[in-house]
Order: sequence, then structure tokens, then C-alpha cells
Amino acid sequence: VPLVLTQFLDRAVSLYGDKKAVYCDTRAFTYRELQERVNQLSHGLKALGITKGERVAYLAPNTVEMLEGFYGVFQLGAIMVPLNIRLKPEDYLFILNHSESKVLFVDQDIYHLIEPIKQRLETVEHIIVQYKDDKTNETDYDKWLASFPKTSFDREDLDENDVCSLLYTSGTTGNPKGVMLTHRNNYLHALHTMHHLRVTDQDVYLHVLPMFHVNGWGSPFYYTANGATHICLKKATPEAIFNAIQEYKVTVLHMAPTVLNSLLQYYEKNVPEIDHDVRVVIAGSAPPPAFVTRVEKELGWEFIQVYGMTESTPLSLISTIRSELTHLSPGEKARLKAKAGYPMIGCDVRVVNEHGEEVAHNGKEIGEVVTRSHGVMLGYWKNPEETMKTIRDGWLHTGDMGTVDENGYIDIVDRKKDIIISGGENISSIEVEGVLYEHPSVLEAAVIAAPHEKWGETPHAFVVLREGHQVSEADIIAFSREKLAHFKAVTGVTFVNELPKTASGKIQKVHLRNEYWSSHG
Ligand code: ATP
Ligand code: MG
Repeated sequence: VPLVLTQFLDRAVSLYGDKKAVYCDTRAFTYRELQERVNQLSHGLKALGITKGERVAYLAPNTVEMLEGFYGVFQLGAIMVPLNIRLKPEDYLFILNHSESKVLFVDQDIYHLIEPIKQRLETVEHIIVQYKDDKTNETDYDKWLASFPKTSFDREDLDENDVCSLLYTSGTTGNPKGVMLTHRNNYLHALHTMHHLRVTDQDVYLHVLPMFHVNGWGSPFYYTANGATHICLKKATPEAIFNAIQEYKVTVLHMAPTVLNSLLQYYEKNVPEIDHDVRVVIAGSAPPPAFVTRVEKELGWEFIQVYGMTESTPLSLISTIRSELTHLSPGEKARLKAKAGYPMIGCDVRVVNEHGEEVAHNGKEIGEVVTRSHGVMLGYWKNPEETMKTIRDGWLHTGDMGTVDENGYIDIVDRKKDIIISGGENISSIEVEGVLYEHPSVLEAAVIAAPHEKWGETPHAFVVLREGHQVSEADIIAFSREKLAHFKAVTGVTFVNELPKTASGKIQKVHLRNEYWSSHG
């Protein structure tokens, strides 16, 4: 049996056909009904002339329309291109043309970002609007979908090595790159993720991470295969998240640390009386240690850190505490959970020096994180040079620096590009940020390298203060000197109202560096 993703929905339909598969706004669908919508979508795409291997783009928040899109596109053997909803019209123009997408499904709320570039789209032949209003003069998704039969769809022959998605990277460090992932990549990744997260049919999964981002992208697979229930929230505000947790008895959530931070803030201010069944919250992207403790103490949810990247489908490390470590004190556990973790099943992860040799397992020596696994992408779409630079001798070079300790725990120190080199010493911007988050007045912090005459570079912080708090630059500097070795302490602070972020909630340090340079020339 080829390892193709359509099997996951088939399994859910045969075992859980009458169970609620998804709640979205005021609507709810069983797995059988979801399959019927998926069939309608595949029939519809076929009628538009879409064939195996062609690209279908989605520009939508977390909705049932997005969820069914995965399986509807896969039944045709077509390739899904999910677009980040927070980009600019010019970015959409680039990605849609670069991916040579033929159909674009777009949510009404985002349609205005497509209008200005419509005339310059080179390959898009059909634009279909979801949640369409009366003013928009495009095909209405609901009416269009309803015109196709719910009957089963004659699937294309799929090979597990067929590409199923072109996922553009977050663009945190520059232009997004189109990552080609295959059915096999996603299938095996889903199997190991569902094992590590212990997903069952009793799970109720709240979509907070966007499905268009690789971290949220896998959830339609591992939660569906096990007959769990999906809760889609178009706008995941802290209030909506807490409401959904109660209303649907949510058991599991994945989110970016910045969203987790806003949940903690909301909780602190409003202390909503929550009667919850949340068993675990999962976050990647370098969550500050202070969050880990607060999530477990204040919210009472287990916290799991994961590490990965689009190019590895995405996850390769997970911070679940192994049973032999359960004797650790809560403080020790939190310290370990603030590290990225150990390799997931099927992932070979190493930390290597510039000669490709493994660094000592002492938690100190820093090297580049490289990984070899069934999750590693086929390559970058139409970019063989970048592919060759990134995958060398079968190893994916992540561009992230890390350490590995005696127990095999890997800690992500920083992105290579973000490390601050001061007087020949490496400083992790993540570590410095972690300390700033311990300051009672700091809401958000991001640290970049500032040029320094004597040391080459020193850490400079961008800080967002909590509402009503007043702190001086000297206070922040003094605080960081108290908590860190002096060479790691920040030497300057810029106070800002907000930090630039990607749609998945990552802080874009490129923009901060530009801002720094334009004000310090
Ligand atoms: P681009 O490649 O376009 O600049 P990006 O690297 O942010 O964007 P993603 O693939 O979404 O795109 O993110 C992967 C990166 O996120 C990793 O390479 C790493 O730098 C960071 N990351 C993910 N998880 C963690 C973690 N647990 N700890 C530290 N960093 C993490
Ligand atoms: Mg990257």
C-alpha cells in the first residue's frame, strides 16, 4: 500500500463515520459529511481541468474549507500551495506565479489583497471566494461546491513519492522558498508525531496554529487519522481560544510562543474561570523558559517544546520527558523542557562542527544542527542551487546552532544568522531574550547584534513593555547584567510598541536589524 495521505481520511470515515469531524463557526460536520464535501471539491477541481501534479493555492484562515482542501486536492494527485494570510499583495504575486498555481481559493476577508495583483497573475485561471459577500464579483465557493456530486471520486493513482505540497518557508530571514514535500514525507511524519503526542479518538484539537504554516499543516493528518475532532477558529484571539477550550472540551493545542504569551497575558488580566480538559500544549520557535513554567503552573497544561523547520516536514526534536527522567524536580523538568529535546522516531539529528564531526555531548560545545530523516524535503521548488546547499550528503543543514548534552538532549542556541559574536564569544540571542522575559515589566523582547568598536558586536534589545509599566534603558541593562555573564548583557535598548512578526507569530529580526541601522546609521 503506498503511503498516501488520503488513507488518513478513509480510516476516519470507516471507523468514525458518524462522529463529528469538525466544528467551524456555527457549523459541524461528521467524518462522512466531510468526505462528501471533499468529494465535491475533487469533482469541482476536475471540472476546472486540474490534473495530477498541478498546483492549487489556498489563501484562508483555519476553516473547514481549508481542512477539506487538503484531501480534495490530494484525491486528484494535485499539489496544495497554502499561502500565509499576512503577506502583502506583491508577495502573493510572487508565490502564485512562482508556483504556477492554476486555481486560487481565497477567503473573503483576504480577497482585497488579491485584487490589486489580479491582472498580473500569469497562471491562475480561476479564483473562487470562500465566505463570499455580495459585493465581490467572483465565483462563490458554497454555490460552486454545491453543484458537484457527493459521490466517491475516482482517485488518481498516487505514488508515495509524489509531491503533495509546496510550502513556502516563513520568510523570517529573507524571501520565502517553496519547499516540496511528498506524501511519504507527510505520512511518516504524521505517524511519528501522533505517537509522540499520543493522539487518540478522544482528542479535541483546537486549530490555533495556521494550517498554512508547516507546524499547523500536519494537524489535518494526525488528528484525522485517529478520528479526533477538529475545532476551526477563523480568528484565534485569546478570548476565542478560552471560549472554545470550554465549549468543545479541547484537549490539545499547538501554538507559537508569541500567541502563548498573549494567552498568558489575557489569563492574568481576566482570570477566566476555565473548567478545561487540555492535556497538552505544544510550541516550537524557541519559547522562553519563563513561559514553560507559567503554562504548567498558571494554566495547568503540560507543555511540550518541539523543534523543526518547513524543510523537515517539520518536526525533528521533541521535549517530552523520558520516563527515566521523571525523578527530576519540577524546576529541573522545566529547564529541560525549555530545551528543544531529543530526536523523534525516524529522525537522526546531530550537532556538528565545521568539519562535519559531531561535537562533544557536554551541553557546551556549539555546532550546526543537521538532520537526516524521512521528513526531509525533496528540495526547493525551481531552486536546485539552494537545495544543493541545504541538503549535503543526505543531511539537511538547518542553519541553526545547537548543543547536545550527556543524555542526548539537544538545545537550540540560535539561528546561525542571529548569533551575536562578541569578543570572539558566541552569544545566543534566544538566551538573552529568555532573561529579559523574566523582567516583570517586559511583555516582549527580541535581541539582535549591534556593532561595537571594541567587541565587534554586542546584544541590543528591542523591548515592548507591559501596559502601564515604565522602565528605563539603564534598568533593562542592569537587569540583564545581574542575570547574565557580563559579556552577554545587553548594551542598548530600543523601546517599541510592537515587534514585527510573521503570520505564524515569529519575530522578524531582519526588520529589527534594518530599523536599528536606519536609526544608528
Ligand atoms: P525562512 O527560512 O524563510 O527564513 P523560517 O526559517 O522561520 O523562515 P520555518 O521553517 O517556519 O521558517 O521555521 C524554522 C525555524 O524556526 C528553524 O530553522 C529554527 O530557526 C526556528 N525554530 C523552530 N523551532 C524552534 C525551537 N524549538 N527552538 C528554537 N528555534 C526554533
Ligand atoms: Mg528557515
